[in-house]
Amino acid sequence: MRVLLTNDDGIGSPGLHALARAFEPEAEVFVVAPEHERSATGHAITLHKPLRAVPSSIPGSSVRAWATNGTPADCVAMGALSLLAERPDIVVSGINVGPNMGRDLTYSGTVSGAMEAAIIGVPGIAVSVGAFRNPRFDVAGRFAVYLAKMIVARGLPADTLLNVNVPNLPAAEIEGVEITRQGDKRYISRLEERTDPRGRPYYWLTGEPGIRGDLEGTDTWALAHRRISVTPIGLDMTSPPAVTALRSWGLEVAKEERPARP
Ligand code: MN
Repeated sequence: MRVLLTNDDGIGSPGLHALARAFEPEAEVFVVAPEHERSATGHAITLHKPLRAVPSSIPGSSVRAWATNGTPADCVAMGALSLLAERPDIVVSGINVGPNMGRDLTYSGTVSGAMEAAIIGVPGIAVSVGAFRNPRFDVAGRFAVYLAKMIVARGLPADTLLNVNVPNLPAAEIEGVEITRQGDKRYISRLEERTDPRGRPYYWLTGEPGIRGDLEGTDTWALAHRRISVTPIGLDMTSPPAVTALRSWGLEVAKEERPARP
């Protein structure tokens, strides 16, 4: 199994290091990761400046690694299309410090790493652990290896990636694994205005997350119930209910009015 690892917390993140060490005994492992944190960059790619990849290393392992000035999506494209001599069998993005559930998916660089893999035609998994404070990576790392092996053996449907969230608990306290749908986690966004030392205003975007853990079968529900959440995500962003609703509107093209003939 040839595995390409990336993340959005940057090549120095302990979550990425734990992931590399978990895969190393089981696979040929390559790491292509951002040189610094690129969380919440979504699916940004770099088109207007050169991309660079500098050989790097992962503490406690001997896997081949590169640090890049790109986003997670750039890293996967650079790895899968160029840096690795052969295409990876799977891309694993993470282990992110903090969960990626509900609306997080729109902003998540971790998820976009796996999404770029799906775009290139390689199975992708995004892995996040459900806590920002004292995150533990043992269960998430083992589960990522187990799931990657299963995906390489069985394949994933086309244009699909898996978004995995793991409770920040010891294995003995985790209740199981749920296949989920995207849940209800949203942010009450605020823009704080402050003043810089030269008297000019500046702004800081912030927000408090609101999480519903009561909607059974969702990612947020799974984590609230001490279960690992695996959400299959498709590249097709169409909203089927909206297609039905909009078709009933009978939208028309406004025809130019013909000049009146004498
Ligand atoms: Mn992150």
